[in-house]
This record gives sequence, structure tokens and C-alpha cells, in this order.
Amino acid sequence: MRRTHFDEEHQLFRDAFRTFVEREMTPHHAEWDRAQIVPHDLFRTAGKSGFLGMAVPEALGGGGTSDFRYNQIIGEELQYAGVAASGLGMTLHTDICMPYFLSLATPEQQERWLPGACAGELVSAIAMTEPGIGSDLAGMSTTAVRDGDHYVVNGAKTFITNGINADLVITAVKTDPSLAHKGISLLILERGMEGFERGRNLEKLGLHSQDTAELFFTDVAVPVNNLLGEEGKGFLQLVHNLPQERLSIAVAGVSAARAALEWTLAYVKERTAFGQPVGSFQNSRFVLAELATEIEIGQTFVDRCVLALNERTLTAEEAAMAKWWCTELQKRAVDRCLQLHGGYGYMLEYPIARAYADARITTIYGGTTEIMKEIIGKSLGL
Ligand SMILES: Cc1cc2nc3c(=O)[nH]c(=O)nc-3n(C[C@H](O)[C@H](O)[C@H](O)COP(=O)(O)OP(=O)(O)OC[C@H]3O[C@@H](n4cnc5c(N)ncnc54)[C@H](O)[C@@H]3O)c2cc1C
Repeated sequence: MRRTHFDEEHQLFRDAFRTFVEREMTPHHAEWDRAQIVPHDLFRTAGKSGFLGMAVPEALGGGGTSDFRYNQIIGEELQYAGVAASGLGMTLHTDICMPYFLSLATPEQQERWLPGACAGELVSAIAMTEPGIGSDLAGMSTTAVRDGDHYVVNGAKTFITNGINADLVITAVKTDPSLAHKGISLLILERGMEGFERGRNLEKLGLHSQDTAELFFTDVAVPVNNLLGEEGKGFLQLVHNLPQERLSIAVAGVSAARAALEWTLAYVKERTAFGQPVGSFQNSRFVLAELATEIEIGQTFVDRCVLALNERTLTAEEAAMAKWWCTELQKRAVDRCLQLHGGYGYMLEYPIARAYADARITTIYGGTTEIMKEIIGKSLGL
């Protein structure tokens, strides 16, 4: 069966993005891993080539298409090239943060931020998680107290992707701490605001070239016209945008599994033991046959979800299904593929080793597997 999901335009876009990755990312990936961050300029280079903000109207500097298959191609190619960690900030910026600006920002706010975001001059991040809460967002304690034409923001966020590179941070705050979900609002905090400090760029198990940071807010005066959407509607706005975030992670998950399979197929055909290629042992064939099957099944579902997102019919439950299943597949795939590499699989010079470390977080961020199953379970009336 041929995958008929993409047309010729998509193929051209894929070729262009693949060339971009080969030229601008692959040669620097190891160095960025050591630096634990990609240069801010990577966003500018990607922006110039049209790889950020595809869904943003052309008049505001974007690509003018809300076809998520373009985002999917970027997510796939980053995995196939083994540069997932260096590309995560870009997909977060485009797939996860931009929709907030598109659906909630006023025309004035869009004019103010979107051209810079599409050009890669303004890097975005989204800050929900706090030291004390992750899954239970309603329990957040960062506050924003209205004072005339400003909010005064106090609190802290942690584990924020693009935390160091970000110029615009979509920050979930409590505008009414006496309320749970209904007290949450979204404010844009900007680089340079007084009292907005970056903490540590956190050392992680994997995703080394991705900056993941702590953010601290001490009496930060945020103009009221940096409020995204309506006050008190933040939780609903997050819930509305999370399916696209989760689908973006699912796309990466199934593509990471495919990349692991391809690298391993090449390896086990070359490597010999007991006078025969490692791939010819029945165990290797079974492991890779199982993974090849699961990847095809996962890909089919993800492709359907992408089309549903395009048609605006993707439900929160379907996105949760795609997210937990594809990321659990990713984890299984990198583990089993690393095993088939033997000791070399543990060496960072082999992409499977990096992919193994990078995969571990994917069943946690964007909502854990357990929370995804809770969402699906509730939709079953349980
Ligand atoms: C590398 C990285 C990047 C990240 N990027 C961002 C980002 O850009 N922005 C952002 O806001 N956050 C980000 N996060 C945070 C991430 O989304 C959270 O870590 C995640 O949502 C889980 O929250 P937690 O760590 O507080 O775990 P907890 O909520 O404390 O959960 C701990 C365990 O309890 C389980 N659990 C919790 N509630 C339930 C329940 N009701 N039923 C069953 N089990 C439950 C969880 O599944 C988990 O296994 C990132 C994290 C990492 C590590």
C-alpha cells in the first residue's frame, strides 16, 4: 500500500526541509548537544526559509496554509535525520505556540508579534508547569494581580522548552487565585521585562541541545494588552490547543520509531555474529517485523488524525490516543533497536543511543501517558 497522504507540493516542501536540515542542522548537532542549546539564530535561518509559522497568514509573514501536513513533514524529517533535540524548539514554536497567537491574539497583538515569530526573530515558549504542579494545572500558583493597566506577576515555572531562547512566553497565571480552572489566564511575558529572570538551563537525561529552563517572576509589570484572549478563560484555551500539541508529539513519536527501525535494519544486515548477519537470527527478524507492523498501524492512525485536525474535527480523546500510543511505541522501538545494536548501541556516536535517551521524556511531556488514558477513559463514560 502506498502512503497517499501527501501530494507533490508536500514532497517539494519535504525535499527543501531535508536540505535545510542537512546543511544547517546536522553538521552542528553534536556541538549544540554539548552546549545544551541551539543558537537563537537557527530560528532566524529557519524563518527565512519559510519553515516557521506555516499557518500564519502571508500578510503577517507566514506561509498562509493551515494544512498540518507541512508541520508533520518537519516533525518527521527531524527524526529521520537524528536531530530531534535540536529541532524540538522549532516544532514547539510553530506547532504548539503559534496556534495561541492565531486563535486568541487581537489583530494588534498579531501585528506586534507574528511577523517576528515567523521570521524567527521572536522565539516563543509556553509555560504551564511549576515546581509544585505539572499534570494538575488547576493547582498552579503563579499569580497576576491587576493594577491599573498592568498585571503584577509573581511566581515560577519550570521545565520550559525554549526557556533560554524564548523572547515571548505564553504564561499560564492565576488572575483569580480563589478559583481553580476558572482563575487561569494567559499572559505574554517578554524578554527584558523587569523582574522576569531565567533560572538554570536544566541538565537532562536526553534532548541535550534543547534548552529546558526555569523561569522566575518577581513583581513583573505586564501590560494588560499582553493578555491573550479573555481573563479567566486560560484553562479552556489550553484545553482547546492541547490536541494539536499532542498530535505534534505523536507525529514525532511514530517517526522516531521509524527512524530507529531504519537505522537498525541497516546495522543488522552489516553486523555479523556466529558467521551470519545479526539480522538473520529469528529473534532479530521477529523484533523488527513486530516494530515494522506497529509503525505502519501507528502511522495510519496519525495520518488520519492529521487530516481530522485539518478538518477541525480532531477530538481531545483522539489526540490523547495518538499521543500515548505513539510515544509508548517510540520508547519500545528505541529500546528494542538499541538491543539489536549490541554494545555499539550504547555509544553516542550511533544515533540509536541518542534516540534512546531522547525518547524517555515523550511519554511524560505534553501530558503523561496516565493523563492521556484518563482523558480517554472519561470519554468512555468511566
Ligand atoms: C524536557 C521537558 C520539557 C518540558 N516542556 C514543557 C514546556 O515547554 N512547558 C510546560 O509547561 N511544561 C513542560 N514540561 C513539563 C511536563 O509537561 C510535565 O513534566 C508533565 O506534564 C508532568 O507533570 P509533572 O512533572 O509535574 O508530573 P506529576 O504531575 O507530578 O506526575 C507524576 C506522576 O504521577 C502521575 N499522575 C499524576 N496525576 C495522575 C492522575 N490523575 N492519574 C494517574 N496518574 C497521575 C503522572 O502520570 C506521573 O507518572 C516539560 C518537561 C520536560 C521534562
